[in-house]
Amino acid sequence: GVDTKIVVLGRPGVGKSATVVRFLTRRFIWEYDPTLEFTYRHQTIIDDETASMEILDTAGHQEDTINREGHVRWGEGFLLMYSVTDRKSYEDIITIKNYLDEIKKARNVSMVIIANKCDLDHMRTVSTDEGERLSQELACAFYELSACRGDDNIEEAFHELFREVRRR
Ligand code: GDP
Ligand code: MG
Repeated sequence: GVDTKIVVLGRPGVGKSATVVRFLTRRFIWEYDPTLEFTYRHQTIIDDETASMEILDTAGHQEDTINREGHVRWGEGFLLMYSVTDRKSYEDIITIKNYLDEIKKARNVSMVIIANKCDLDHMRTVSTDEGERLSQELACAFYELSACRGDDNIEEAFHELFREVRRR
């Protein structure tokens, strides 16, 4: 198809739904059903050209998401998200990346890393440096942002991922 297929992955509670909905509607809603999984279609202009994407907001733990493998096969670009207040979610990124490599059988899967909830600085357990180091290690773009506060980096992250997929 012509739509670029984007999958949002990360530990439950990191703010995947909040970030996707913020990107699509510029609003923030405090509570989403954590079991809800939904695909959104989005059309916009990126670099002066029409850009169409489908965005899959995944739900559930990586270990028990029945559709996990199907999602990864479906996706062309991956937005890997952790929360700066949840160290385990940061450590999960490398596990997710390894899983992508395994399923895609490629070393250079298109992806970006998002560190969400940077408004909660007093609860931070992952530093900006650690996020940058990880993304250098995985050779991908890195954005720290807050879905709650709203942030230009939200749009930037989705657009950069789109470009990354299209470059392939
Ligand atoms: P998901 O399970 O990854 O889809 O996470 P949700 O989008 O459902 O968000 C989980 C919780 O974190 C909710 O209570 C959100 O209101 C909250 N949340 C999401 N993003 C942010 C953020 O940027 N800052 C703050 N303070 N809370 C957030
Ligand atoms: Mg969700």
